[in-house]
Amino acid sequence: MGFKKILKVILIVLLFFVGIPLAAVLLEGDYRNELMPDGLKGVSFADKVETPETIDVWRCDQEKTVKVNFEEYVACVVASEMPATFEEEALKAQSVAARTFAMAKIKTKSPVCDSTHCQVYKTEKELIECHPKGWENESWEKVKKACRATEGELLYYDGELVLHPLFFSSSGGQTENSEDVFVSAVPYLISVSSPYEEKATHKDEEKSFTLKEFAAAVRKSFPDKEFGTISTDRIKILSRTAGGRVEKMQVGDVTMKGTEVRSALGLSSTLFTISFKEGSGWNGLSPSNMKIVFVSSGSGHGVGMSQYGADGMAREGADYKEILKHYYSGTEIY
Ligand SMILES: [Zn+2]
Repeated sequence: MGFKKILKVILIVLLFFVGIPLAAVLLEGDYRNELMPDGLKGVSFADKVETPETIDVWRCDQEKTVKVNFEEYVACVVASEMPATFEEEALKAQSVAARTFAMAKIKTKSPVCDSTHCQVYKTEKELIECHPKGWENESWEKVKKACRATEGELLYYDGELVLHPLFFSSSGGQTENSEDVFVSAVPYLISVSSPYEEKATHKDEEKSFTLKEFAAAVRKSFPDKEFGTISTDRIKILSRTAGGRVEKMQVGDVTMKGTEVRSALGLSSTLFTISFKEGSGWNGLSPSNMKIVFVSSGSGHGVGMSQYGADGMAREGADYKEILKHYYSGTEIY
C-alpha cells in the first residue's frame, strides 16, 4: 500500500470516528438551544429526568400496591390535593410539584403511598364519588387539562431533580425556612413572602383551652418530659422563626418546639399568638379556671409552596413557572 492510500484510509477513519459524532453533538446542541426559551439557554440538560409510564402506589386502606399510569396518577393527586376551583396556573404549578414529588420518590427508590404521608391520591372513581354530582364534567376536565399542559415537566435545582417539592395549604403571609421546621436546610426551601392569601380558609383561627386542658394535652403528648407546674406565668413564647412562626415556647420547666405545641394541641399552624383570659367558671381563686387562647393563621407546615398563595399569585397574573420559582427559590422547570 502506498503512502497516499494509507493517508486516505486514516482520513476516512478519522472522519468516521471523530467527525460524525462531533458534528452530531454540535448540531444537536444547537438544535436544542434554539428551541429553549431564553432563560434556559446554556442550562445543562444532561440530567433531564424522563418520567416513567407507570408508578406503583401503596393503597393504605386496601393494603396493596397498584400500578397506575404515571400522568393519570399526577392528575388524580392534583385533584385530591387542590380544589378544581383554583386558578388554572395554580393547578399547573401543583401538577409540576406533584409530578416532581413522585419522580423523586422513584429516583430514591422510596415507596409512594396514597396518604398525606406522601401526597394524597384518590382514583378517578373515588374522586367522582367524593365530589358533588357533575364534578367529573367541568372540574375534572379542568384539572386534567392543567396536567396535560405540563406533561413530563419537573423541577430542577442546580441541574438536579428537586427531591423535596414540599407544599401546604396556606402560610399566613410568609413561608418558612426548611431548617426551622424540619431537620436540615434545603437551598430552594427558604422563607419567602406569600402575599395573596386573602381567600385562605385558616385565618385568625381561635382555639382556647383551660389551663387544665392545656396541661393535660402537652403531658399526654410528651409523657417523658418533666413539666413541673404549668401556670400562666410559666407559659411563654421564647423565639420565632424567620417566617414568624413560634420556634420555641416555655411550658412549665420544659422548652418545647412550636411544632410540638402545634401537634399536641391540634393547631392549624405554628404561626400563633397566645393570650390569657378568665374562664367562664372562674371563681376568683383558682388559676385552673384561666384560659389560654391561641390565635393562629395559615394551615400546614409552611415549607415550600403555599397552595392558597399559588392561587392568589395566579389571580394576580403569574403563570405556573413564576409561581413555582417564587416558592422554590432558584429552581428551573423543564
Ligand atoms: Zn407515604
